[in-house]
Amino acid sequence: MSSPDVPRGADEQSMALQQTTLDLQAVMLENQAILDNVATGIVFLKNRLVQRCNPHAEQLFGYAPGAMVGTSTQSWYSNPQDYDSVASDFYPILSTRQARTTELIFRRQNGELFWARMSGRIFDGANPLQGGSIWVIEDSSERHAAEAALRSATALTGAVFNSANVSIIATSTVGTINLINATAQRWLGYSSEELIGKATPALIHDAGEVLARSVELSREMGFPIMPGFDVFATKARLRGSDEREWTYRRKNGTSFPVYLSVSALRNEVGEITGFIGIGVDITDRRRADEAIQHANEVLEQRVLQRTAELEAANLQLKAEIDTRVQMEQEMRRMAHYDSLTGLPNRNLLNDRIEQAIERARRNNHKVGVLFIDLDHFKTINDTLGHHIGDLLLTQVASRMSFMLRATDTLGRLGGDEFLFLAPEVDDPEKLAVIASKFIEILAQPIAVSSHLLHVTPSIGVCCYPDHGTDRDTLMRNADTAMYFAKASGRNNYKFYTESLNVDVDNRFQIENALRYALVQNELSLHYQPLMDTRTNTVFGMEALLRWHSKTLGVLSPAQFIPIAEESSLIIPIGSWVLRQACMQVKRWREVHGQDYILAVNLSPQQFHQPDLLKVIATILSETGFPPSALELEITESSLMHNVKEVTATLHQLVDLGVRLAIDDFGTGYSSLSYLRHFPVHKLKIDQSFVRDIGVDERGMGIISTIISLSATLGLQVIAEGVETDAQKQELMQQGCHFLQGYLFSRPLAADEADRFLAIRRAAN
Ligand code: C2E
Ligand code: MG
Ligand code: MG
Repeated sequence: MSSPDVPRGADEQSMALQQTTLDLQAVMLENQAILDNVATGIVFLKNRLVQRCNPHAEQLFGYAPGAMVGTSTQSWYSNPQDYDSVASDFYPILSTRQARTTELIFRRQNGELFWARMSGRIFDGANPLQGGSIWVIEDSSERHAAEAALRSATALTGAVFNSANVSIIATSTVGTINLINATAQRWLGYSSEELIGKATPALIHDAGEVLARSVELSREMGFPIMPGFDVFATKARLRGSDEREWTYRRKNGTSFPVYLSVSALRNEVGEITGFIGIGVDITDRRRADEAIQHANEVLEQRVLQRTAELEAANLQLKAEIDTRVQMEQEMRRMAHYDSLTGLPNRNLLNDRIEQAIERARRNNHKVGVLFIDLDHFKTINDTLGHHIGDLLLTQVASRMSFMLRATDTLGRLGGDEFLFLAPEVDDPEKLAVIASKFIEILAQPIAVSSHLLHVTPSIGVCCYPDHGTDRDTLMRNADTAMYFAKASGRNNYKFYTESLNVDVDNRFQIENALRYALVQNELSLHYQPLMDTRTNTVFGMEALLRWHSKTLGVLSPAQFIPIAEESSLIIPIGSWVLRQACMQVKRWREVHGQDYILAVNLSPQQFHQPDLLKVIATILSETGFPPSALELEITESSLMHNVKEVTATLHQLVDLGVRLAIDDFGTGYSSLSYLRHFPVHKLKIDQSFVRDIGVDERGMGIISTIISLSATLGLQVIAEGVETDAQKQELMQQGCHFLQGYLFSRPLAADEADRFLAIRRAAN
């Protein structure tokens, strides 16, 4: 550029001008280039109409190249107010030659709006509109958008920060609180001023929890962690964040649980600049958890309780079932087994017999049936009581059971009746062996409480098919045979035979007829003299009962006495005998002037009758018979049961003044030791031993033993059934002087006896 201060020639001037023009052109070109390429809209206006503009301005407002010139700026604005306000606010300021910038929303030709910064300058201050002005317009949409985004982001963050239902606490790297949101303030009851700048753990955390966590964390990390801010920071520092439940302490001292997530804050280069803790109040969750836990516990408790109840109910049910099963078993047992002895009862026996018959029929063998009845059991029951009777039955049952083979059945039909079933028998003779064994096995005395009891059985034997082909017949025939065994003296067995039925019929006939014997005056007494061989005199008479039945004829005592005993008819009959005999012998004592003694038989039934003493005393006093002349003959079997009671009765009888003799001595099982205590006066040697004299050494031995025994005990001894002189001599030699038997006299009717006494007296 040239200096205008240096004088120049015309050429020089023209050249200078030329040069200036060239320079100007260059400047204009440069300006044009700038205008064309600048990323800013530049517009020249006059009277608010576009005079010139650069391409960017055209782009900005959406005009085709050159199309913008001549347009009014009115179309630039999004509303007329902006257009107006530019006129009213802008131009006055621009007139003062000041620059003015504004940012407005502009409108493109296509209606699109955009933010732009606009600054203007006018050329002629006095004439701003017509003098022209230049406007620079920069699109600020992007910045605006960014700012708006930032603003809204900030607003959002702020909203989140303060209104989110979480506590947010930002701290420094050492735990000093830098920032605390509204929620945290509200929850903790502190204002932000009270917390900012303070160390967190001490203020809002539970000291115990922080301590416990520090111990736990130290162990986990392997290096010591102080119970302070490190408790929160360590994990966040290492892993970026740490999440767990904590307890926040409020300003008022109360506390609440939070789920706290602590994260490290880092700057662009990754350095930790602080920590932020975001906490969720988990009071409700805890409460819900607790409620759930409680509900679970309650439920569990209920389940346990219910289980226990069910178990108890189950147990009870089981117990009930057990009881029922037991009851059923018991009922079944009761239905088939005898409750006293445990042996099969009649029902089961019936079944077994039928089964046995059925099998025997198929296999062609025999079935044995033994009907076993205990002798004199009624006496035991009556004298010792049912309890002892029951115990005896139990022992008898168990004793007999020893003999059973696996296939045998022993059952109890009732009372003292037992039935033995041998379901497979080849030879009926074997049944005889079995019956003998039963007799043998019962021969030994049985100890029942303090008593030593003797029981003997009477056994009836029969077998299928010989004696019957059905159950009822077999049982009936075995029963019949048993009666026959009884009638034959008891303690034995009898096989059934056809003729037995007749005997049984007899038995019932006898019993029936016997009922009327007394009132019909069919009974009488015979008397058999009792001899003293030393003086050859009659010292007494034994009264022996005779019965001439109008219907049955003459029956022997052996035929009807057992029946009288079993039917208890012996009691009234016995009384009749005693009274009758007392009257008779009293008369003879008076008539013949001799102190005859009277021997009267007393059956076991009578001996055990409760009013025995009274009956005897009454008869003695009513007949006036001297008690000392009455000798009661009691069989051994009467004395064997219940020694204590028997001894007492004997003593009472002795106290009455009567004498006692043991009849048929040697046939029973008298214990010698008891004998010593019995206040008896005489032993009567049974006629079976007398019969053996000169025949059986053993019988003889027994006689001499009885004789020396009576001497030892200071008892009298008499032998009965003396029929021969040899017997008489032998007995006398042995020292037995009192004798009775056919050798001297048969039992005689009263008038015969009277004559006998007269003759005898005359002889002496
Ligand atoms: P006992 O008391 O042993 O009577 C003796 C039995 O032997 C009597 O039989 C008698 O006639 C019989 N006798 C007497 N001497 C001889 C003899 O030399 N040879 C033989 N073979 N027999 C002889 P009896 O009269 O038939 O009486 C039998 C049993 O009946 C008696 O045996 C007695 O136990 C019982 N008895 C008789 N009368 C009564 C009574 O009034 N009451 C009771 N309870 N039983 C009586
Ligand atoms: Mg006698
Ligand atoms: Mg006798």
